[in-house]
Amino acid sequence: MARIELKNLAHSYLDRPRDEADYALKEMTHVWEDGGAYALLGPSGCGKTTLLNIISGLLVPTQGQVLFDGRDMTREPPEARNIAQVFQFPVIYDSMSVYDNLAFPLRNRKFQATEVDRRVREVAEMLDLTDRLKRRAENLTADMKQKISLGRGLVRPDVNAILFDEPLTVIDPHMKWLLRGQLKQLHKDFNHTMVYVTHDQTEALTFADKVVVMYEGEVVQIGTPEELFEKPAHTFVGYFIGSPGMNVLDCRLEGRQAWLGEHKLDLLAGHHVPAALGDKVQLGIRPEFVTVTRPEEGLPARLERVDDVGRYRIARLTLNDQAVAAILPEGSELPSDTAGVRFEPSHLHVYMDGHLSEGGA
Ligand code: ATP
Repeated sequence: MARIELKNLAHSYLDRPRDEADYALKEMTHVWEDGGAYALLGPSGCGKTTLLNIISGLLVPTQGQVLFDGRDMTREPPEARNIAQVFQFPVIYDSMSVYDNLAFPLRNRKFQATEVDRRVREVAEMLDLTDRLKRRAENLTADMKQKISLGRGLVRPDVNAILFDEPLTVIDPHMKWLLRGQLKQLHKDFNHTMVYVTHDQTEALTFADKVVVMYEGEVVQIGTPEELFEKPAHTFVGYFIGSPGMNVLDCRLEGRQAWLGEHKLDLLAGHHVPAALGDKVQLGIRPEFVTVTRPEEGLPARLERVDDVGRYRIARLTLNDQAVAAILPEGSELPSDTAGVRFEPSHLHVYMDGHLSEGGA
């Protein structure tokens, strides 16, 4: 297992990148701790696969370094990195038995036959493949084949890290739940450094101890699921994590007061207001911390509709022409179409040009 360090790393697919927009991966410096379970989360095209391929050695970055336990691996080929990678679609040998497929990475590295047998059976047991070990892989379902791929990634005890690139895409939804749980358990048992790429927030939040959120080639936050929920470092994190996502409202700041049109909100001592304001000043508040009140008890808003999503209801309002969502407590009575909204002050965040404004009061 290894501690993975990314130092001033950036990548452009162009030969002569000129400005930031030419980079698929903007400059980043991060440490991924030894034995950590990380999810790389972000929308399509944000650079997840690019970053994963730089770590595995399939791609050499335009600038910066990749270090494993302090050793510079930037220009080392994949074989030299001792990394297991599981891709979106099964990579297995159809003509071999399930057993031989699982044994392959170990035999390739000259593990002793008894150790090969022990590991293959252990991994097969975890993935519920034991009764299929003798079968040829060829006629198995896509689900089963992808399980074998996962097994091949997990079978080696000596890897620096295991990288998963959307490995559950071809798996049916019920099996997905099971496998995700099993992967988390495997991480606990073996303590491998694991990096799991996905654009699905549920998948990321259930698998990882730390979620690395990417947006337009940038890592905008690395945090525990709680941190991403409680204190989104970027408006994108607030919007992407949570269902529905965080409300983001354009505002004007005057001293320690935020103005939403003609409506005023007092900021708390804990809210940081920098001396120089950004071009775009916004307030963020999660729908969980918005209360719908009578008009005179909050900022006056218009109730547009209520969505019932099964587990809870969401009130959709407009406040000064801006959309606001509020999660309603069970059984709550709603006022008529003119309503008020109240924001829980301790859960209100101030953003400058998308980034959370932090620092002393
Ligand atoms: P997805 O979830 O769709 O796989 P991703 O987050 O993994 O997306 P990347 O595949 O890393 O994103 O792509 C990042 C950016 O780099 C995108 O704009 C993409 O078009 C571009 N890109 C990726 N691979 C190449 C390539 N081989 N040549 C040129 N541009 C590329």
